Parts: sequence; structure tokens; C-alpha cells
Amino acid sequence: MKEFELIRRYFTDQPVTRKDVVMGIGDDCALIDNGGDSYVAITTDTLVAGVHFPKETSPRAIGHKAVAVNLSDLAAMGAVPSWISIAITLPAINEHWLQEFTQGIFELTEYYNVQLIGGDTTQGPLSITITAQGMVAKDKVLYRSGAKNGDYVFVTNTIGDAGLALAAINGDIHLSEKDFESVKRKLDFPKPQVLVAQMVREFATAAIDVSDGLLADLHHLCEASALGINLDLDNVPLSDVLVNNVSKEQALRLALTSGDDYQLIFTVSATNKVAVETAMTHAAVDYTCLGQLNPSKQINLFFEGEAFEVASNGFQHFS
Ligand code: ADP
Ligand code: MG
Repeated sequence: MKEFELIRRYFTDQPVTRKDVVMGIGDDCALIDNGGDSYVAITTDTLVAGVHFPKETSPRAIGHKAVAVNLSDLAAMGAVPSWISIAITLPAINEHWLQEFTQGIFELTEYYNVQLIGGDTTQGPLSITITAQGMVAKDKVLYRSGAKNGDYVFVTNTIGDAGLALAAINGDIHLSEKDFESVKRKLDFPKPQVLVAQMVREFATAAIDVSDGLLADLHHLCEASALGINLDLDNVPLSDVLVNNVSKEQALRLALTSGDDYQLIFTVSATNKVAVETAMTHAAVDYTCLGQLNPSKQINLFFEGEAFEVASNGFQHFS
């Protein structure tokens, strides 16, 4: 049994269904209707040492990333972040570590005007769980399920650099110091696409953040919207560092399956395609159009005119 099967089998069925829960399990955030024009969006993500970050990761990076991955899920719903709670399990008290860790957290919360409102502190193997909450106007929510047949699929920036950094850390690949620093920054200090999401939600029909790999998250969006796509892999945006250090095929495999990129996938109707492209160009956001959704409910990959196979969709716990 894998992560998503486990959630479906043991957690989705439950005794209570409340009227104020507009979205429960199954999207990037839950949505609560407290009255008024906005929903409260809520998401939780855990980082475990040695699983979500290499043990030698700097405490500032761990703090930054723990917040960033949660804000990324808020962005994926079109929500503006407001509050976080932090549950932290520490092996021991190390004041220097805590100083740096909280610096990493507060750099990001200050930028987004987010207040830390609570949490929990315990002793044990290093693990950080953050719950982030935000607000989204009821008519501006970006659900995974909102895409329509014929919509164009966009992705921000480039994909696969975090995977390249991890491959280098694991010793699978050798990078020059300069290249390593550049991709390690992306692995350690991901930028949640909050502002981009605020802009594209005026046009977009659906969105998801890329946390588990382009293919896995595109699959979640397609599945939720009951659509598919023929994905020409020549369209997948790869950084120069990635392309210059591994074969094109290896670069694509990293982009498709390695995860930790925290870019935004969103879909736009043919009518709004030019408008969203203009908005992103004006805001100097790098973006790529991956293609158009079709009713097949399948993701078919093509590379240089041939079908392309990957061993797994992306990162899954218990796989
Ligand atoms: P994301 O990658 O966007 O953070 P996940 O893949 O972690 O989302 O989770 C998918 C969905 O399952 C989300 O709606 C999440 O809230 C829900 N979920 C995950 N684990 C549990 C759990 N143990 N109990 C209830 N819901 C869960
Ligand atoms: Mg997500």
C-alpha cells in the first residue's frame, strides 16, 4: 500500500461531514466557510530529517523550507497566507541551531506578512510539522478539479534542479562547485509561487503545486479534472545547469519524477491564454505552456517523436 491508497483507505472515510467544510481531503488545502466573501484555506506539511532534507542541511534552510512547502500549498489554491503553527521535535536543545532555524522561518513569514500563532515542542528525532492558514475569495479558488477539456497547461520557471542537487548530494552525479551551489539553493530555499498564483487566479481554471514531481502532480490535476494530456517532453522547462550536467533524457527523468521544485502548474481556457501570458510577461515571471488537456484521462509522454516511459510517477512515501 502506498501513501495515497493509505489515506483513501483509512482517513477519507469518517463519521462526520460538516457543512462548513467546502473542501476536505483531496486538494492542496482544505477550505472552510466561516461566512463572508472568503474561505479559510488550511494545509499541513511535515519535514523529517533524512527524508525531506539531507541530515547536513543548514538549520536556516530547514526553517525556510518548512514554511515554503506550506505556503506553496496555499498558493496552489489561490490563497493569501496569514498564519502558521509549528510543531517541532528536536533531538536536543542547540541554541545556535534554533537561532538559525527561526531566522529561516521568520525571513519568509516577514516577507509574506504571516504570523506564527502557536505550535508544540517535543524531544525526539528531528521533525517539523507546520500548519499554514490563509484566505481566498470564494470566487477565486483554484481547485485541482477545475480544468476543462481544451485548457492550456502552464508551469512556472524550471523543473528538476532540486532533484539534480539531491542526486549530487547522494553522490550519483558530480557537479562543479558553482553548479552545485546554484541547484542546492533551489533545493534548500524553494520560493513558493504565492504572488504568481495571486496573479493567475484571475484567469486560471485549476492549479496544483509541484511537490512530488511534475508527472505526479500533473497526474493529480488530470485525475481530479477527469482529463489527460499528450505531453511533448521538449516543452518541459529545464535549467541550463540541469541540461549541461546530464543527458537530456536524464534531465527529463529528474524533472518528471524527483520533486521538491515547488513550482505552480495551472490551467487556462483558450480564451484567456493570451491574457495570462501577457500578465506573466509584464510581471517578469518565467513560464512554459506544456500543452492542451484532452478527454483521454491519460498522460502520454513523447520525446523526440517517440513514446517515453518512466519507472514511477514521482515521490511517494511507502512506495
Ligand atoms: P500535498 O502534496 O499538496 O501537500 P498530499 O499529497 O500530502 O498533498 O496530500 C493529499 C491530500 O491528502 C491532502 O488533501 C491532504 O490534506 C490529505 N492527507 C494527507 N495525509 C492525511 C491524513 N493522514 N489524514 C487526512 N488527510 C490526509
Ligand atoms: Mg500540494
